[in-house]
Parts: sequence; structure tokens; C-alpha cells
Amino acid sequence: MTESPSRVAIVTGAGRGIGAAIATRLAADGFAVGLLDLDEAGAKAGAEAIVASGGKAIGASADVSDAESAEAAVATVAEQLGAPTVLINNAGITRDNMLFKMSDNDWDSVMGVHLRGAFLMSRAAQKHMTEQGWGRIVNLSSVSALGNRGQANYSTAKAGLQGFTKTLAIELGKFGVTANAIAPGFIATDMTAATAERMGISFDDMKKAAAQEIPVRRVGQPEDIANVTSFLVSDEASFVSGQVIYVAGGPRA
Ligand code: NAP
Repeated sequence: MTESPSRVAIVTGAGRGIGAAIATRLAADGFAVGLLDLDEAGAKAGAEAIVASGGKAIGASADVSDAESAEAAVATVAEQLGAPTVLINNAGITRDNMLFKMSDNDWDSVMGVHLRGAFLMSRAAQKHMTEQGWGRIVNLSSVSALGNRGQANYSTAKAGLQGFTKTLAIELGKFGVTANAIAPGFIATDMTAATAERMGISFDDMKKAAAQEIPVRRVGQPEDIANVTSFLVSDEASFVSGQVIYVAGGPRA
């Protein structure tokens, strides 16, 4: 088992929700963390909270769907914290609509953030990982990859991320780099709260109804995803690669 030479992690979409919880957990695990988000204030606030509790972090704005921005963000983290050897592709958006109402822009923007974003960030970060001979990439997929009404764009992107993950695992394994995907079920964040608002129901009612359908009878919290991420980026997980782990309170796969 080779130990990580540079304990520096990048988390995209870290300004809130699941990304913020992952950044906090990786900092507690001893990683210096680069929090990237479209929302610079959110990323900086998250980094300040980590520093205030004794960790090492920076927050910066980045649009993962833009090549120049993604590369510049990886370079900034490398300069300020050291070579990033962990990348969590978490940034995400939804533009839900039934197929007949889905616009070109609904389709392209979702593909842009999830698929193009994960591709651009992984391409920019892999050189640091292969140089170090150690790396961990974790991509946020979703149970929606199995199909979900009103999410032709999102479910396609999340299924695509699973193929992307398996290919990275095959290409990068010989450099000591693993790639895995986490496919969350219902996690209580602004993203699911916005879905409730769009559907015209209260978030509490939505969570209660969702919990009834989940075998462990509760919805997930961002920390549930952070816990699994913590394992996947650890030295102990060096023989786990190309996997999709459903973290959904039940099988769903
Ligand atoms: P969230 O609360 O909406 O947070 C997503 C974050 O990503 C936001 O801070 C957002 O920035 C950022 N972001 C969006 N586009 C970006 C871009 N182009 N570049 C950089 N950052 C960008 O979502 P979440 O619920 O935490 O979800 C995190 C990930 O888990 C997503 O990939 C999501 O698809 C996935 N997931 C979530 C659930 C769930 O139930 N919540 C289930 C399965 C999978 P702004 O604040 O500026 O918009």
C-alpha cells in the first residue's frame, strides 16, 4: 500500500450541500482542501470555517464547465496548497423537464456541468496525481442514473459519469490513481429543496414521503456522502477502483 505523498484535495461545488460536507470531512481527515464553486463567497466561507477549526483550506471561484476556468483553478490550488492528489467532482445542477418541454439549453447546461466539468477537472488534475504516483478521483453520480421521470438530461449525465469513472480507473490505475463514483439517493440539500418548491410541496412533506420509500426510513444527509468519500480517498481503499457505490439507504441498483 503506497501512502499519499501530497495530501491535497479539490472539491468542486463546495460552496454548499454535499460538496461543503465533503470538504469539511476531508479537512478533518488531514487534507488541505481547495474548495471551488461558481459562488466564490460560499467557497471562501467554507474555507474560512475549516481554517478556523484548525484545518488548511482555500476557497476560489471556478466554473467547472469552462476549460480555462477549470485549469486555472487546479493551478491555483497546486500553487497555494501543493499538488492536488484528490479530486471530488461534485458540482452539479438540475434543469428538470419532461422530454417534450426540455430545451436545448436544459440539456446542454446539465451536460456541461456534470460531464464536461468532470472531464475538464479530471484532465487538469491527473497530471499532478500521475507525477506523485498516487491519486483518488471520486465522481458524484446519482440513483437517477437508473432513470428518473423529468430528468432525461440529468439521468443521462449521471449514467455517463459511471462510464467515465470506469474508464479513468482503467487508464490511471497503473499510476496509483483510483477512480470511483458515489451514487446518492435522496439527500437533504438546497438541490432537493428546490425540487420540492418546483413541485409546489413543502420540503418537510417531501422528505417525509421520500423516507417512507427508503428501506432505512430516513432521507440522507450530506455527511452520509462525506463518510463514504472519506473511505474512497483513503490509503486503505487502494484496491477499490472503477466502482459505483449507491448510498441511498437501500439497494436501488
Ligand atoms: P447543491 O446544494 O445544489 O450544490 C451544488 C453546488 O455546485 C452549488 O454550490 C453550485 O454553485 C455548484 N455549481 C453548480 N454549477 C457549477 C459550476 N459550473 N462550476 C462550479 N460549481 C458549480 O447540490 P447538492 O445536492 O449538494 O449536490 C451535489 C452533487 O451531488 C451534485 O452533483 C448532484 O447532482 C449530486 N446528487 C445530489 C443528490 C441530492 O439528493 N441532493 C442526489 C444524487 C446526486 P452555486 O451555488 O453558485 O449554484
